[in-house]
Amino acid sequence: MRAIIVHGGVSELKKEKVERAVNGVKRAVEAGYAVLKSGGDALDACEKAVNVLEDDPVFNAGTGSALTLDGQCAMDASIMRGSTLQVGAVADVRNVKNPISLARKVMEETDHVLLVGEGAEKFARIMGFPEYDPITEERRMEWKKLMDRVMNGRSLKHWKKLSELIKKHPEILHGTVGCVALDERGEIAAGTSTGGVFLKLFGRVGDTPIPGAGTYATIYGGASATGIGEAMMRTLLAKTVVDFMKIGLSAPKAAEAGIDLINNTVNMMAGIITIDRHGNIGFAHNSRDMIVGFINENMDSIEISGIPEDWRKDD
Ligand code: ASP
Repeated sequence: MRAIIVHGGVSELKKEKVERAVNGVKRAVEAGYAVLKSGGDALDACEKAVNVLEDDPVFNAGTGSALTLDGQCAMDASIMRGSTLQVGAVADVRNVKNPISLARKVMEETDHVLLVGEGAEKFARIMGFPEYDPITEERRMEWKKLMDRVMNGRSLKHWKKLSELIKKHPEILHGTVGCVALDERGEIAAGTSTGGVFLKLFGRVGDTPIPGAGTYATIYGGASATGIGEAMMRTLLAKTVVDFMKIGLSAPKAAEAGIDLINNTVNMMAGIITIDRHGNIGFAHNSRDMIVGFINENMDSIEISGIPEDWRKDD
């Protein structure tokens, strides 16, 4: 059974961005599913789908990533092959177009799992990734607006309460991307890519590049998470959800159980997408929106879900 699901991050998307995000998610599923249909590997499908999302500036990954407190673009990504538990990740990496592809190089070309910062960038050049500026004008403007609000509205000491800040300004968090894919040989892969949380402190690394927190895959299932990374790191959400599938929960039930766990413990904004080894697809989130697109062989066409219900009303 071939199956693929992608997410465009938890969010409260502004209306003008919803349609762009829906189209982007759809194009990513199409690209990844085309790889699976031509007999391709789950890992290739996953990388391809995430590349499409990274290249779409509406999402907070690759081109158009969110900016740090000091106006930089510092991205995180990871990718994992379920059958071998091979995983590659990069964190705090700048000037690269597709962090998920760099993460794959870490997995395939090194003995390591995670490269960070300058080291990751140096490795990117050695691997032939050209220098690339992922900062867009749109993000620069958003950054300026948010900085003004934070500086004028509340003093910076409130940064210690990231959740509180995000409750007040949900636009801080949106647009991380992720994918889980299952190929015809039963291989499961998962990948996640992000610019992190808007206005994150320099040096902050989230859940996305941490195996078991933001991304995980085994022979039983795969998961990619989004939301406030600190929540996923404290609960090891992706691994926990994959373990739920190992003990027999279907992908939809495992995703729900994962978000229940978040709600009953750290209680921060989170979302997760899953596929189990039978090709069942699941997703759950405690945010208002989390746009997902998915398809498996039992479905005639790509389904899109997680869009705010009223987004078309006052168009
Ligand atoms: N999980 C990401 C992080 O904390 C952000 C997101 O999913 O929007 O870096």
